[in-house]
Amino acid sequence: IERTLSIIKPDATNRNLTGKINAKFEEAGLRIIAQKRIKLTMDEAGKFYEVHKERPFYGELCEFMASAPVVVQVLEGESAIAKNREVMGATNPADAAPGTIRKEFANSVGENSVHGSDAPETATVEIAFFFSGLELV
Ligand code: ATP
Ligand code: MG
Repeated sequence: IERTLSIIKPDATNRNLTGKINAKFEEAGLRIIAQKRIKLTMDEAGKFYEVHKERPFYGELCEFMASAPVVVQVLEGESAIAKNREVMGATNPADAAPGTIRKEFANSVGENSVHGSDAPETATVEIAFFFSGLELV
């Protein structure tokens, strides 16, 4: 059993899509074991996406992530990291497979509705960024 950090991004919370996205996770066998709606500051968004700070889209990405509330959540299940990324679909919705969250809901490569951790090491760090051990049962 594995855990991964998921974020429902501002483009999706703005369009009231949290429930539809959560249904995709649950249908795939992922259990939402922690969840909260928060509004990131620019500093927090910048720290969370620090790995991308040299990329040309970093500023735009941080401004977008701080532009409206996000829903941060921990998903649990067998191979949760890979399974979540499968349900999310490719970063660019134009490349995403049918039935994936990004294919159905994303606006663009930047406003792509969801984030998911990409490896066990990043999942551990990203879960601890938003949740204390007491919030995870
Ligand atoms: P995430 O990390 O959000 O789960 P990902 O792992 O599929 O997405 P990354 O390469 O880690 O993609 O990029 C992080 C985020 O940066 C993307 O989800 C997207 O919101 C944004 N991004 C990536 N590439 C571009 C781009 N070319 N233009 C604008 N924004 C981009
Ligand atoms: Mg990534």
